[in-house]
Amino acid sequence: MASRQLVIGIDLGGTKIAAALVDGAGEIVAQDYRDTRAREGRDKVVARVLHSARAVIEESGVQASQIAGIGIGAPGPIDVASGAVVAPPNLPGWERVPLKQLIEDNLAITTYLENDANAAALGEHRFGSGRGVDHLIYVVVGTGVGGGLILDGRLYHGASGMAGEIGHIVVKPDGPICSCGRRGCLEALTSGPSIAREARQRMREGTPTLIAELAEGDESRVTAKLVAQAAERGDKVAKRVLAEAMHYLGLGMASLVHTLNPELIVFGGGVANLGERMFGPVREAIAELAFPEAARAVRVAPAQLGENAGVLGAAAVALAQLD
Ligand SMILES: [Zn+2]
Repeated sequence: MASRQLVIGIDLGGTKIAAALVDGAGEIVAQDYRDTRAREGRDKVVARVLHSARAVIEESGVQASQIAGIGIGAPGPIDVASGAVVAPPNLPGWERVPLKQLIEDNLAITTYLENDANAAALGEHRFGSGRGVDHLIYVVVGTGVGGGLILDGRLYHGASGMAGEIGHIVVKPDGPICSCGRRGCLEALTSGPSIAREARQRMREGTPTLIAELAEGDESRVTAKLVAQAAERGDKVAKRVLAEAMHYLGLGMASLVHTLNPELIVFGGGVANLGERMFGPVREAIAELAFPEAARAVRVAPAQLGENAGVLGAAAVALAQLD
């Protein structure tokens, strides 16, 4: 037990803060959850992050000096070199907040900061679907689309820390406007809200569909989850909307397969609950478009860490630095 490595993983989100004391094998020793209450401003949020970290230390009964490091996954963009949160849209008023420094000053434990998608990639690589895999692309498809790249066994940051912004690969130049202001990005075509937007469009065109029935005619109730339910019940419109969205996802993935020659693409986020309705079209696009040697080398798989993905990813950020 003396050699058991312990780190704290903190998942700082726009609505929730989760912290966990985690060992080197990914076992959660103690955990804590609280609301972010982002609107109360950065100082209060930073104080809550500190409380959450102290809570897991106290609950576990270990000494702070026995904790090798703290990893934090926070909304991007992140300046990894200085450990600052730059200006995430879901943390209003955060302008280059030196979070690493603030945590270290208060807890005297070495702290590492990473954007949440990169943290999730490291988590899947160390503890989840990507164990033992050296070339891995992690893709989160949910409210937005993001990702992280593990290349040659290490997280790849790129020249200015912006690598892995998979959601903004353009696959349809005349397509719908994206949250980033450009047109036809993967995020604008395959995220949950994009799927819902397409389904609403079909409803407006008057195409008969079970989606309208499930939403009781109320467009505002249409979500990607509801579209998936309609598809499960055989609705043709729902199936087509999903197939189209996942075809675009496949186009993006095929380009990544050409570029990076990965062994594994891991999908997380709510839309990944589509299962084969997602993986099927992605596999097809890769088989059709990528070079055979690269297409044969790659598997697609769902993320494994589920509701603990945030804290385990953050813990993996610290463990990767401590290796
Ligand atoms: Zn975009």
